[in-house]
Amino acid sequence: AYRKGGYHAVRVGDAFAGGRYVAQRKLGWGHFSTVWLAYDTLSSKFVALKIQKSAKEYTQAALHETELLSAIADGDPSNSKCVVRLLDHFMHAGPNGQHYCLVVESLGDSLLRLIRYNRNKGIGLNRVKTICRSILVGLDYLHRELGIIHTDLKPENVLLVSTINPAKDPVRSKFTPILERPEGCPNGGYPFSMNQKKLKIMTRRALVKISKRRMSMGGYVEMERSLDGIDLRCKVVDFGNACLFDNQISDDIQTRQYRAPEVIIGLGYSFSVDMWSFACIAFELATGDLLFAPKNSPEFTEDEDHLALMMELLGRMPRQIATAGSRSKDLFDRYGDLKRIRRLKFLRLDRLLVDKYKFSETDANSFMEFLCPLLDFDPEKRPTAAQCLQHPWLNE
Ligand code: ADP
Ligand code: MG
Repeated sequence: AYRKGGYHAVRVGDAFAGGRYVAQRKLGWGHFSTVWLAYDTLSSKFVALKIQKSAKEYTQAALHETELLSAIADGDPSNSKCVVRLLDHFMHAGPNGQHYCLVVESLGDSLLRLIRYNRNKGIGLNRVKTICRSILVGLDYLHRELGIIHTDLKPENVLLVSTINPAKDPVRSKFTPILERPEGCPNGGYPFSMNQKKLKIMTRRALVKISKRRMSMGGYVEMERSLDGIDLRCKVVDFGNACLFDNQISDDIQTRQYRAPEVIIGLGYSFSVDMWSFACIAFELATGDLLFAPKNSPEFTEDEDHLALMMELLGRMPRQIATAGSRSKDLFDRYGDLKRIRRLKFLRLDRLLVDKYKFSETDANSFMEFLCPLLDFDPEKRPTAAQCLQHPWLNE
């Protein structure tokens, strides 16, 4: 929310850091911040400006993120380790308070965007492999060289180096940077007024309706959008929740669908939580669907459904693990069976890939051989990023 302690409202043309950076357009937002494409008048380059909410805890988190990003930049002088590069940071005073601002290299669309762009059908295994390699290079660097656990790996937090639609990519096209707030805008500098915005939404809705009607008449086959020619290099971003292995701040980590079982049952965690999330992302890229989408119900909690879904796909959790966590007593009986979900419908990953996603047997098998070790219930048994990079699936 744009109020005291919250986000800073930015208008196109707004200047930051004494005029050095000029806001161009909004790139995205998260729980902590809004992110704007800005023009750096000193280096004559486009950058991404992450403007944190102003309340103390957000500033604290941004300071922490700066520390980690500085270490990341220091250890990778050639900027080749697939992690976003920190360029600068400063404070910005606004009507809602003091906002900590991070300046990082400007990147393109997130993997979430890529998955949706392809209508949630999966992006093809060769593309999945390319993206997996980049993420693994990033994770290997973070884990092995810096001792950093990301703890919030998900498609929103992995960004392509360029945008899906190059024509809309100001950084790599002949876009002339805006250096002043555009004059005569009815909405005080916003690129279009509220009414025009409404109009845009209404037009989009009308178009959706028309295309649905055409589909139902059976005369049109929807065209697959092509991903050919999209540069699929990518980088890991968002270190707002990351931590050092020997300085863990919270037990409550990861976004639900990408959360590892040891986090749910309260067993403590290590680098291997990122490997679990990585496997969830690889599956999602390949199929367009979430690997685990738990729900709660009157009979059981989201955590219980999540554990049940894991076991249905991967087999029963070893009893020693199921019963060892600080939350085990709430969830499992002493035999390591879930207390409130008694009947599980097992379906192995390779069958799921063949039956539901129409993978060939060969593709399903080789993909499963890559994924399953990463989804081991025993965190210690999961391969490291370095080991994954050696896997035949990525090197055939
Ligand atoms: P938060 O900590 O608030 O979640 P993130 O760092 O995840 O902030 O950034 C929020 C969103 O802004 C991202 O999901 C992405 O869409 C966009 N974004 C972040 N960093 C960049 C960047 N370097 N280049 C382009 N877009 C970015
Ligand atoms: Mg984020």
